[in-house]
Amino acid sequence: KPKDSNAAHTFDIHAAIQEHFGFSQFKGRQIEAINSLLNGNDTFVIMPTGGGKSLCYQLPAMILEGCAIVVSPLIALMKNQVDLVRGYSEKDNVAHFLNSSLNKAQIREVKEDLLAGKTKLLYVAPETLTKQENLDFFSDLKISFFAVDEAHCISEWGHDFRPEYRRLREMMEIINPDIPMIALTATATPKVQSDIVKNLGLREPEILVSSFNRTNLYYEIQPKIKKEQTVKSIVRFITQSKGKSGIIYTLNRKTTEELAELLVANNIKAVAYHAGLDAKLRADRQDQFLNEDVQVIVATIAFGMGIDKPDIRFVIHFNIPKSIENYYQETGRAGRDGLEGKCILYYSHKDVAKLEHLMRDKPLSEREVGAQLINETVAYAESAVCRRKILLHYFGEVWDTANCGNCDNCLNTKEKVEAKEEAVKVMKAVTALDERFPAEYVINVLTGKLTPQITMFRHESLPVFGTGKDRDEHFWNSLIRQLLLENFIRKDIEEYGLLKMAPDGEKFLKKPASFPIVLNNLFEDANEDDDE
Ligand code: ADP
Ligand code: ZN
Repeated sequence: KPKDSNAAHTFDIHAAIQEHFGFSQFKGRQIEAINSLLNGNDTFVIMPTGGGKSLCYQLPAMILEGCAIVVSPLIALMKNQVDLVRGYSEKDNVAHFLNSSLNKAQIREVKEDLLAGKTKLLYVAPETLTKQENLDFFSDLKISFFAVDEAHCISEWGHDFRPEYRRLREMMEIINPDIPMIALTATATPKVQSDIVKNLGLREPEILVSSFNRTNLYYEIQPKIKKEQTVKSIVRFITQSKGKSGIIYTLNRKTTEELAELLVANNIKAVAYHAGLDAKLRADRQDQFLNEDVQVIVATIAFGMGIDKPDIRFVIHFNIPKSIENYYQETGRAGRDGLEGKCILYYSHKDVAKLEHLMRDKPLSEREVGAQLINETVAYAESAVCRRKILLHYFGEVWDTANCGNCDNCLNTKEKVEAKEEAVKVMKAVTALDERFPAEYVINVLTGKLTPQITMFRHESLPVFGTGKDRDEHFWNSLIRQLLLENFIRKDIEEYGLLKMAPDGEKFLKKPASFPIVLNNLFEDANEDDDE
């Protein structure tokens, strides 16, 4: 494993953070990430937004010899980041960016500063690295390390897949294979994490994960039955929130406009925001929202990236988002200041069908991934289990508190039923099927359905076949989700969706204990009758 010889460090990093950034202490796991990188290790930082990821590479960049190359996906945000760093150091050439927005003369200036060794941090777009002349230039330069920001862009399972990210390892090998790499992201499910490590070729990385729990956010799901009723409910909620700022996310542009109009008709200062508006209007409306000239912005997901408004008090989803990661990101914009943030999702089966419909023209692999992600979101919405527990479980985090006290399901706890026997049946079936089938198949076996696949594999002759006939699909689905949440079983990472046994489940099978579960049929008629 390559180590940079000059990286064995003896610096006082506490003095360095003070000197370069004026901070008196480190936040969260910053210090571990910084030490890991300074010691020449590949490092993987997973921290929620606002956790302080940038410093994890900015400080080492200031300390180490040479210039750090930081890959960032959004040209629009690069200038911001560079300005921030320049603000700290008061030297303009300490940080630069190279992307397609610069003209020839500007590029020449940046390269001169790099050659003169004045620049410690260089932000680049992934496309910049694919140009041969840049590869040649960087190969002759002293580079301290590579940083890959928004590393989830490398995975189809993340919320923002960028195919160019897949070529980063190859480019970095050409420039210099012997320097460490740090990858950073705010959203990593175990599946995305493993994609990042694999595709970026991180070598025995030090992985630093911070908690994703946002204790101040309240989560609630409302069934969406009639559009009129939903709008009324939203108007009532906003009126009660007395002028506090909020975002409403909708699925399409037309709905943003319609809903904004309805809110205005109800004396709420609201504007629509979507990618179909011209840039000037978008910028104006964003400013209106930031300056509190309007209370509510009704937007598609085009709104929010890089928005820094700490006192957003609510985020309402008028339609179900396309993945739990999206939901977490979008609701994460509420309560940045640590104070109250209410996150309410209006859920209907029809919206799920709409999402599925949107994917109809995508290639098969993309559709399969998309369908899995939607399934997880549906499971979240329909569950009667603590919302926080489900969200955190999605990010691979264990949440063992019985009642979070800040979600609808914890505040109105539902009756539980004993499911010990049934839990045993599920896990016996998973084992009997050699852990090679998804939940749907396991349920078909339990309920004794003779599907062509089951007949083909002769699974009707398994002892577990049909042992769960007395319960319906809804029950088994709900139980399987809760077994997943308790880490009794898990979903395979490579072949996503296949159910596998987990150590706690093995233990349970040997010595079954009480397993109370909550059932929920509140959403059976959540079938909004709109006409979009
Ligand atoms: P992320 O990239 O994880 O969303 P940022 O790097 O933008 O987070 O940092 C979030 C905020 O925290 C920024 O305003 C940053 O200046 C501040 N910050 C980061 N590290 C520290 C620290 N050690 N002490 C105080 N403030 C910090
Ligand atoms: Zn809860």
